[in-house]
Amino acid sequence: MTKKYTKKGRKTKSAGRFGPRYGRKVRKLVANIEEKMRSPHKCPSCGHLSVKRIGTGIWKCKKCDYTFAGGTYIPQTPTMKSLLRSLGGEEK
Ligand SMILES: [Zn+2]
Repeated sequence: MTKKYTKKGRKTKSAGRFGPRYGRKVRKLVANIEEKMRSPHKCPSCGHLSVKRIGTGIWKCKKCDYTFAGGTYIPQTPTMKSLLRSLGGEEK
């Protein structure tokens, strides 16, 4: 019996390089994170969607060269948002 591999059956997207390893759940999760990672991110300094990940947790805006530390996979983590809220102004 021969198996036919069609693109339709692939749900793993970018995580397809892992092959059959790690299990379906993990690969789906990785594909999800990588998709977020690759999509453009908004610069907190100039507001342009030109922020790229240049290292683990390091992000840089191509427009204004603003470099900042953020989440490992996405520029802003929920923890960061609350941190920024407590840091940014509103001090009386
Ligand atoms: Zn910028």
